[in-house]
Amino acid sequence: MEKKILSVLFFLGLVLTAFSQTEDFVCKEFSNLVAQEQHAHQALLNFRSSPFTDNYDIRYQRLEWDVDPNVYYIKGRITTYFAPTKENFEQLNFDLSNALQVNSIEYHGNALEGHIQVDNRLAIPLPQVIPLGQLDSITVDYEGAPPPTGFGSFIKSSHGGQPIIWTLSEPYGALDWWPCKQDLNDKIGSVDIYVRTPAQYRVASNGVLVREYSDGDDKVYHWQHNYPIPAYLVAIAVTNYAYYSDFVPVDGGEPIEVLNYVFPENLSGWQNATGATVEVMQLYNELFGLYPFADEKYGHAQFGWGGGMEHQTMSFMGGYSHSLQAHELAHQWFGDKVTCGSWGDIWLNEGFATYLEGMTYEHNLGPNTWQAWLQGKINDITSQPNGSVYVSDTTSVNRIFNGRLSYSKGAILLHMLRWKLGDEDFFQGIRNYLEDPNLAFGYARTADLQRHLEQQSGQSLTEFLDDWYYGEGYPSYRFNWWQEGTTVYATLDQVTSHSSVDFFEMPVPINFRGAGGNETTIVFDHTENGQFYQFELPFEAGLVRIDPEYWLLSRGNFVTNNEITSVYSPLFEQVKLFPNPVREQLRLQLPQGLLPAQCLTFNANGQLVQQFYLRSETEEVEASQLSAGQYFLQLQTKEGTMTTTFLKE
Ligand SMILES: [Zn+2]
Repeated sequence: MEKKILSVLFFLGLVLTAFSQTEDFVCKEFSNLVAQEQHAHQALLNFRSSPFTDNYDIRYQRLEWDVDPNVYYIKGRITTYFAPTKENFEQLNFDLSNALQVNSIEYHGNALEGHIQVDNRLAIPLPQVIPLGQLDSITVDYEGAPPPTGFGSFIKSSHGGQPIIWTLSEPYGALDWWPCKQDLNDKIGSVDIYVRTPAQYRVASNGVLVREYSDGDDKVYHWQHNYPIPAYLVAIAVTNYAYYSDFVPVDGGEPIEVLNYVFPENLSGWQNATGATVEVMQLYNELFGLYPFADEKYGHAQFGWGGGMEHQTMSFMGGYSHSLQAHELAHQWFGDKVTCGSWGDIWLNEGFATYLEGMTYEHNLGPNTWQAWLQGKINDITSQPNGSVYVSDTTSVNRIFNGRLSYSKGAILLHMLRWKLGDEDFFQGIRNYLEDPNLAFGYARTADLQRHLEQQSGQSLTEFLDDWYYGEGYPSYRFNWWQEGTTVYATLDQVTSHSSVDFFEMPVPINFRGAGGNETTIVFDHTENGQFYQFELPFEAGLVRIDPEYWLLSRGNFVTNNEITSVYSPLFEQVKLFPNPVREQLRLQLPQGLLPAQCLTFNANGQLVQQFYLRSETEEVEASQLSAGQYFLQLQTKEGTMTTTFLKE
């Protein structure tokens, strides 16, 4: 999923629309709403940890729905094929909102009485015990107006004067609109989806549209999906869709269809944009193995939500930006083929989808866009000193889908794993993870990914994950060096932004540039503070940069050069530059003891773009003419040379 707005704002927006009279009222309503949300999720947590639905395997479901996008209502008939996985199976349980009314339950051709609906659970006592492993089936007939929870779950809206109903169940919303098994350990083996709707509308859903047929004034759309699917990825969207297909060529195989259901008023815009998905799918096929549902389809269905949702084989899309297309497509491998085994492991969905989005910049859109993308993510993550990728509170939808942590930091964590392990082991380890028969078309936890990457690389990742997955914050590096002839002496230190990690053990790349265009990058294995290095450099270094290609999550790094005392001057600690990132003027503050100083600004490629003298303790430097990107500011003083970085927006 990728959302353009925080869900807090989303809820606030709803409340503002509904109660725009007074601010007081809005605040009260908002806090009530948050309290209700938290209460609802607390109830769900209690329920999830109970063994309510974990005693049977769900093999197949036939989902029959009546939906008219003009009416906020659903009528359904759900037939479930299941087999007990525990002894003494005498009651079948589903997750189902209390707001939906169960009309009848059919079992072996007879109506079954005595079901109980409480706490958003439906319990159906069976007439006899069903033996372990025996396949059986049951049909639940129900109807009602689904209560919208989470990101909406069941939404009626409009576009171009036309009504639309769509669903978005992630994470806890499937039970709002159908009786299901809403856990993260048992996928439905396969599904048939039949939706009846007035004849002027079309229905988008999972898998292949095997048939559409008229029935009076209605049409029925029959979609079929023959892969395991969790309840939260089952979805329908109903409106007056126009549609067209793109095709992705496959070496030595059938092309893969990309079926687009879009609003007729936006058709040409979409037709011009979705070629990106063809290119991106070719890249993912190459890096991560063939698109997992190649014999069915991939698709987009436009909807009115501000973002996208990776419904299996048919992503629902609020727009067609390159990054949204790349992100939702990536989820078909990471999220759909292999699904996070708990909401605490959400980064296995969102960190990967975000990183793959970035990799389309690396491969398809050029190195400058890739560097800018990495820099943007690092800047976002380090805008606050804390926060882990690991989700400790899965009752909070806002925390699960926190963009800075589950998405951006999850993505940069993968990028650092790639840096640490090298491309070959990183990509092979990921492919092994995707193809593991215990994980493929099933669920995975963080430990499963760790195991595959460790087996492939032979490296332990326990320390790495303690620091970057469970731990919070980032390091700020300080590199001090001096050169005598061709020998360079250096020390590397770090301070961490959060007390949960006292030291980030990492290979740290440092780039050395000489006046004659000589350049080399040396990787320092940083294992402790005060670490001393001595190495040969066949040219005289001028500009020294820490991690100029953005392999690491770090911020506020600086480099000092001091041949006289062989240690950095404490005066350097008092140098301040702000705002950072900067738009127009950069303000520099230097202690008196470093003045006068010569100041050199280098761009990310190491080219000199500005040179001037600083004579007073506070100086304003014009930055408005610089193009966006990272810059290295070098101060040459009588105490030695210091280099630090700033970002131009
Ligand atoms: Zn996503």
